[in-house]
Amino acid sequence: MHKKLFLPGPVEVLDEVLQTQARPLIGHRSKEFSRLYEGVINKLKRLFNTEYHAFVFTSSGTGVLEGFIRNFVKEKVLIPVNGSFSKRWVEAAQLNGKGVKALEFEWGRAVRPEVVAEELRRERYDALMVVHNESSTGLTNPLKEIAEVVREVSPDTLILVDAVSGMLGVPLELEGWGIDAVAASVQKAFGLPPGISVAYVSERAMERSKEIENRGMYFNFERMLDYYNKKKQTPFTPNISLMYALDYQLDRILAEGVENRYERHLRMAELARKWALEKFDMFPEEGYWSRTITCVANTRGMPVAEFIEELGRRGYAIANGYGPLKEKTFRIGHMGDLTERDVSELLGVMDEIIREKGW
Ligand SMILES: *Cc1c(COP(=O)(O)O)cnc(C)c1O
Repeated sequence: MHKKLFLPGPVEVLDEVLQTQARPLIGHRSKEFSRLYEGVINKLKRLFNTEYHAFVFTSSGTGVLEGFIRNFVKEKVLIPVNGSFSKRWVEAAQLNGKGVKALEFEWGRAVRPEVVAEELRRERYDALMVVHNESSTGLTNPLKEIAEVVREVSPDTLILVDAVSGMLGVPLELEGWGIDAVAASVQKAFGLPPGISVAYVSERAMERSKEIENRGMYFNFERMLDYYNKKKQTPFTPNISLMYALDYQLDRILAEGVENRYERHLRMAELARKWALEKFDMFPEEGYWSRTITCVANTRGMPVAEFIEELGRRGYAIANGYGPLKEKTFRIGHMGDLTERDVSELLGVMDEIIREKGW
């Protein structure tokens, strides 16, 4: 039986979108591919009405974000940490031999812009790397306000953003907020199968990358951009089937309208939050609840693993808590092309299970 996915990724993908991948392949050095790829890049720019460079990499989001560290961090990066993904970027920076300072906040609490400002006044950093939507805790950090203080206190510090589980579900501005580089995996709010990732990079960050040594080959943004400018192609063989699906999905998203997509995600989140507050409690701090992932505090002490198994038997997949939050929370992903109707259906089934089991 197919389980409908309410995960923090991968997400449920529409049948018509899945089908586009079954088309016969074309060569990645053909004019046909160049037309497809150029179309995709232009549509990506239209999504955010941006002049930034847009990129599509064949990898999951982590590859591109590691690429940010290699391409845009000369020596030292500041990383506010309030969940597992921000923690992961600290490790990635270390593994790539960069200097890194982790600015720790309690999990489930938002990054405080004033604390970031204080640290930037104390010391100079080449870049700040921040997670917009922290999937492990269902929390959206105040990115606009964080970017504002960086611009004010340390204008030449680049702002690198993990918007993997937020992009197209949680409102985001590029030029408007002064972000330098942002990346997303397509298996989240884009509503596609995993395998490719999207990035936007400012001209200033592209210039800065030229001063940095040992940027590597596969995730080299200058090389990607050169290839695009000269041939409208990628330096290495891309996932062509997923490129078809991305192209198709971008048309659907542009037809829905990005603002409408944000609103739909908010309406889904509101249903999940209302349910969580009635039956349990919300895990993250109020005021920072994510539109794409609701992280519920397991205040009833329910056996989360058993709950998830039972949901699976009835055709639905949700996620347990992440790492140390495994049995303390559970997470409902409501992103991509899911609707309020899907979320209501899931909540109904969850109620049914809780009632039957007497939890
Ligand atoms: C899913 C996720 C990632 C990891 O993305 P992959 O595509 O699995 O590499 C990174 N950051 C956040 C916030 C995520 O939700």
